[in-house]
Amino acid sequence: MNIILFGPPGAGKGTQAQFIVKKHNYFQLSTGNLLRNEVKLNTSLGSKIEQLISNGNFVSDDIVNTLLKQSITNLKFRDRIIFDGYPRNVEQAINLELILNEFKQTIGHTIFLNVSRDIIEKRIMGRMTCEKCNMTLNEHFNKKQIELHPCGAEYLKRRKDDNLKVVIARYDTYMRATNPVLDFYSKNSNFIEIDGADEIDQINNKINDILKV
Ligand SMILES: [Zn+2]
Repeated sequence: MNIILFGPPGAGKGTQAQFIVKKHNYFQLSTGNLLRNEVKLNTSLGSKIEQLISNGNFVSDDIVNTLLKQSITNLKFRDRIIFDGYPRNVEQAINLELILNEFKQTIGHTIFLNVSRDIIEKRIMGRMTCEKCNMTLNEHFNKKQIELHPCGAEYLKRRKDDNLKVVIARYDTYMRATNPVLDFYSKNSNFIEIDGADEIDQINNKINDILKV
């Protein structure tokens, strides 16, 4: 079944998508990848895309739709696509539904990996790196490991990270843009929200359970 995976920056969406690709033999479809692949293949559409991008222009919806159709009709990935970062708005969501209907496919699950702003902040601000062995731990989430760190906890130093503002801005932008799309999908029974604050393995197990059904 095809899946749509949503999740703000920092929720671990990329990691989970990679797990699904490997374990369940899925094709990860993001528009960025689609465009890059087409350029690499050196098709006439590819060179048109390359030109648009290098001139700083947007790639039209028509081009993206053509590439979407190519992937959806590729028998190799039939019913095995993870849509990652697409659709970005309700218009695209409706369009995706039309294309899938046309080729007799559906979205099996829409998974929203939700993580709060507060957790994202803690993940960034709590990051500590060992001066001796370079191990990275988090003062909020790895209290035990910090206490028991073999080099000695005193070597774990907080890095000055001024990235926080950028990351939070990206988070806010994502949530603002994605909320209407989430509203659109959350009305369906196959919409599932997973707590992105959980451990990576726990999240992975939950997704595996969902994909088994
Ligand atoms: Zn160490």
